[in-house]
Amino acid sequence: MVKVENSKNIALSDSIINLDHGDPTAYEEYWRKMGDRCTVTIRGWDLMSYFSDVNNLCWFLEPELAEAIKELHGAVGNAATEDRYIVVGTGSTQLCQAAVHALSSLAGSHPVSVVAAAPFYSTYVEETTYVRSGMYKWEGDAWGFDKKGPYIELVTSPNNPDGTIRETVVNRPEDDEGKVIHDFAYYWPHYTPITRRQDHDIMLFTFSKITGHAGSRIGWALVKDKEVAKKMVEYIIVNSIGVSKESQIRAAKILKVLKENCESESDNFFEYGREIMRNRWEKLREVVKESDVFALPKYPEAYCNFFGKTLESYPAFAWLGTKEETDLVSDLRRQKVMSRAGERCGSDKKHVRVSMLSREDVFNVFLERLANMKAH
Ligand code: PMP
Repeated sequence: MVKVENSKNIALSDSIINLDHGDPTAYEEYWRKMGDRCTVTIRGWDLMSYFSDVNNLCWFLEPELAEAIKELHGAVGNAATEDRYIVVGTGSTQLCQAAVHALSSLAGSHPVSVVAAAPFYSTYVEETTYVRSGMYKWEGDAWGFDKKGPYIELVTSPNNPDGTIRETVVNRPEDDEGKVIHDFAYYWPHYTPITRRQDHDIMLFTFSKITGHAGSRIGWALVKDKEVAKKMVEYIIVNSIGVSKESQIRAAKILKVLKENCESESDNFFEYGREIMRNRWEKLREVVKESDVFALPKYPEAYCNFFGKTLESYPAFAWLGTKEETDLVSDLRRQKVMSRAGERCGSDKKHVRVSMLSREDVFNVFLERLANMKAH
């Protein structure tokens, strides 16, 4: 039986817990431990201009942030940064839209189809439908996609919501009308073994899910093609005339500390994050095993180049399934647990996405409620 520790939080015992969003508060304690090492002082007269570096194609990118990004990827070994443009965005949410816009505006005909293999990150649907652009059209699941003409495939690896390692599924190697955007939000060593240095045409990363600083709203794209990078920059100029410098400076500082700590024995953030995730996944698997009703995906082990050993995956979301014919999102809601419906991710009622990145006490309440859910 899993021991669920929740003695401090009696107040939580009756409240609704929200594990629908992946709000990454799990790492707060680590950053608190770093004390003033990540503190940034910004005086009243600092950072006033729109411009950061007029010689850079992405002129609103703070050079300090660009440097920190390159150093971190170098230390982790998860992505190539040489011969690429770095485009900074207000979260990778803005960059995904910028990339879809850029690729569509360079395509020969419109609308360009946008697809992702189910189950997919549900926000892609909103991102590609909300403004009703005539330039591109959300076409849903990439698995069955066979429409002619230009298309964009969004590949998320490890995948949100189900944590699997993904490659393109449309695969038309001869077709230069096919473009791919790789979303590597979770390709970091606390979630998954780093098996290769990715070097795709457009790669998206987010500060939110590396360190947990989602509130800073910083993401970046590594882009090979100059024209695509230019179009992405144009989109961001029209959308928000750049990206908050305060956020960029803070992100640069924290990423720098993160990178320095990568080399440390005691303060390695990825080691710390991995331990949290391992602990949560073990407890969750235990509850699921005892339930007889729920199911979770299994992930293959792989050699992680960063840690230098074979490791398991501990995804940021649990893709929870049920063996019963039921609407799992409603069942959980009745237990005051909010999760994301599988249907929103292009899947079915028998699956939900549950965030694994909440605060510890919230996660423990979730386990308690899940353990108490009875078979119908
Ligand atoms: N891509 C994926 C796969 C995500 O899960 C998220 C965050 N939920 C994002 C992009 C967006 O991250 P942000 O806008 O916070 O950078």
